[in-house]
Amino acid sequence: MSIEFKSEIKTLQVLTSDGDLVTYEIEYRSDPLTSRISVICPYLKEKWVEFYSVQDKDWLNKIIEESKENCLFCKPLIDEIAAKFPEQQIEEDILKFDDIYVFPNLYPRADFEAVVTSPDVHYLDFSTINTDLLYRFLSASIECIKKAYQKNNKLIYPVIGCNYLPPAGASLMHFHLQVSIQEVPFHYVKTLTDSSVQYEIRNHANFWPDLMNANKDREIKQKNNIYWHVPFAPTGFCEIRAIINKPNMLMFTTEDIRDIAEGLSNILRYYNDHGFAAFNCVIYSGRLNAENNDFYSGIRMVARPNPRPNYTSIDSWYMPFLLGQTVVLEKPEDLSKEIRNYF
Ligand SMILES: [Zn+2]
Repeated sequence: MSIEFKSEIKTLQVLTSDGDLVTYEIEYRSDPLTSRISVICPYLKEKWVEFYSVQDKDWLNKIIEESKENCLFCKPLIDEIAAKFPEQQIEEDILKFDDIYVFPNLYPRADFEAVVTSPDVHYLDFSTINTDLLYRFLSASIECIKKAYQKNNKLIYPVIGCNYLPPAGASLMHFHLQVSIQEVPFHYVKTLTDSSVQYEIRNHANFWPDLMNANKDREIKQKNNIYWHVPFAPTGFCEIRAIINKPNMLMFTTEDIRDIAEGLSNILRYYNDHGFAAFNCVIYSGRLNAENNDFYSGIRMVARPNPRPNYTSIDSWYMPFLLGQTVVLEKPEDLSKEIRNYF
């Protein structure tokens, strides 16, 4: 067992304009695989609460209702605007699975990009159980990845991502997933694979099972092939991760996809109960043409600041965005205890 959870608690003092000395405690944590630094600042909970956990529900409902008008992904517009796959990418021009449409992103930013959406689901209600809905979206995404890979076996690094609501970078309010596939790994996936290879060389052991064994304080739930947990050094607010005991997405079974959908649905209900409306999520995979490697696929999901008329992007100032050092408000051990009740 060679996993190290490095942390250091520091005391900071500030003299207010009235001459009072205020003392704060912050905790530096280092990611056990990548050494990326996170800072836990519990005192910011009060200061930042309005950005994260106070929703302007009336305003949000109003903009959601307004966005239904002329929505590109609702009927009838979706049937007029949806782009089509060229034959060399995927045989069918648009993939359809019942109400789910999969079609190319008109403005791709990777070797292959597709949109996965349903004209019947404009808004995602976090408060209800969304397992079946998410299962159908994820199954359609994985079918798309399989078909793209069959046509072009250089497309070996797929991710399924979601940006939900404008603070998460979504340009449309309408709920949709995106599939992005590259011939080269995304930076985060490369960091994980390179770092876990280095770990194996140093310790003669696989990082992922070692992490699961050493991570009891932040474990949410292990169900079948999916291990849900809160990272020791989070990279976003209320970040939940999963380790999937499959090297790549082609190996995901129906049961794996259902378990992923169930876990994501549980997290959404937790987010809803704690006032969050926007999130980013990514499901990543090891390379599709290496079935026997030691990599584990995975999931990262973070809550984003709530949409509001004068939106403040409080989680993407210079420290997290340019320096790669995230500030969070909550101890990961406390978050994992709370969210366990949703699983
Ligand atoms: Zn819509």
